[in-house]
Amino acid sequence: MSARRRTLLKVIVLGDSGVGKTSLMNQYVNKKFSQQYKATIGADFVTKELLIEDRLVTLQIWDTAGQERFRSLGVAFYRGADCCILVYDVNVLKSFDTLDTWHDEFLSQASPPDPKAFPFILLGNKVDIDGGNSRVVSEKKANEWCASKGGIPYFETSAKEDYNVDAAFLRIAQLALANQ
Ligand code: GDP
Ligand code: MG
Repeated sequence: MSARRRTLLKVIVLGDSGVGKTSLMNQYVNKKFSQQYKATIGADFVTKELLIEDRLVTLQIWDTAGQERFRSLGVAFYRGADCCILVYDVNVLKSFDTLDTWHDEFLSQASPPDPKAFPFILLGNKVDIDGGNSRVVSEKKANEWCASKGGIPYFETSAKEDYNVDAAFLRIAQLALANQ
């Protein structure tokens, strides 16, 4: 009998409107990218099954339905979160400057038992645009921000070109598992 332990992990994706949160999820779960702006994929969350070592892991990935514009996502959104993916657009400075607010908002709303140990990762998305010539936030600056938050892992991603998307979700799943 192979009694694999099944683990459900709740993943929260946060960041300014338009940075590519829905696109990253859609690329990861459905291997699809759409140029068209869609405020939501139409569900509270999507799921993805992963095998990590001997563990069967179900990622329950929560998207916002455009409410991030108002920064009021409601308590149900944050409740029971196991990890948090912060996303900004490397071509939009404001989306980087708002990361502090998203990070602090998450910790105050989700109030995990040990905030210092809580698994976050940061994704700098849309690195494909203009071959990187229109980026306004350097990798160095992003890494400095991550270090200032206690060593959050940083990934540069493109939902459009499916660059680093699987790697980023795998990393956050591993961190969340380790924090269980
Ligand atoms: P959200 O508001 O954070 O969920 O952002 P969306 O996923 O809706 O994306 C906003 C817009 O950016 C859409 O037009 C997407 O097609 C586009 N987009 C998202 N990710 C990327 C990316 O990696 N590269 C490029 N070039 N466009 C992207
Ligand atoms: Mg969205």
